[in-house]
Amino acid sequence: MTTNTSATGRLAGKVALITGGARGQGASEAGLFINEGATVVITDVLDGEGHATALALGPQCSYLHQDVTDPVNWQAVVDSIVEQHGRIDVLVNNAGVFLPGSVLESSLDTWNRVIAINQTGVFLGMQTVGRVMVEQRGGSIVNISSVAGLSGAAGFHAYCASKWAVRGMTKAAARELAPFGIRVNSVHPGIIDTNMLQTFDDVDKGIRGALLTRIPLGRFAEAVEVGELVVFLASEESRYSTGSEFVVDGGMMS
Ligand code: NAD
Repeated sequence: MTTNTSATGRLAGKVALITGGARGQGASEAGLFINEGATVVITDVLDGEGHATALALGPQCSYLHQDVTDPVNWQAVVDSIVEQHGRIDVLVNNAGVFLPGSVLESSLDTWNRVIAINQTGVFLGMQTVGRVMVEQRGGSIVNISSVAGLSGAAGFHAYCASKWAVRGMTKAAARELAPFGIRVNSVHPGIIDTNMLQTFDDVDKGIRGALLTRIPLGRFAEAVEVGELVVFLASEESRYSTGSEFVVDGGMMS
């Protein structure tokens, strides 16, 4: 894979790392980024899907195995990207899991797993990639939270906790990293039609209909509708935005 230095587009010449990029929103973001001139490295634990996605997206995309809970794996991924491309301009902390569990019934294992992936993974990403961005004096970090990071979500206690944490960590990091020209923002999707929506079905077959009544625009979002916001945050068009929440939810939070 070569770095796309001659490209045109809103992300021309930028090098981006998107975690959880094998499928869903991460894969959609990777495609949009490449269309805007970026070179993209997607990472995931789903190696088969990850390699297939990278192949489908063409020579400006590559795949690396990464478990976002593992600091050694984070360092190896970042070292590999810097060795190949010399820099990392954009980090999208997108990897996540949505595991059911109420405050009264959730097991400690479920709690620890959700926090490790959704929260600790974002911390490790901001720290490992942040050190590279400090050296290069610039970058944009986009942390994927949720509407569950803006309100309560009964039955998904750990998920809700992790997504509120991402929102707070984003603001703290934005203040710390601003002097180095690094922006950090959070994105709060509503209900997006990806594999994750299947988790709702597993909990309650009738839940899709109930959820739709809470969305003023009357439908779930497609992954690309979140991706277009992420492109904006990765690009210079959002150069005066940091430490902010960007909601894309069809009006759910209105
Ligand atoms: P998805 O399940 O299709 O994608 C999540 C990806 O993260 C998967 O490819 C998965 O393998 C990967 N992943 C899981 N654990 C990992 C780990 N330890 N290390 C690396 N990768 C790992 O779902 P999606 O909708 O594309 O989710 C993307 C993000 O959007 C998540 O952070 C999710 O919490 C958030 N989100 C989703 C929705 C929704 O309705 N789908 C709503 C709000 C927020």
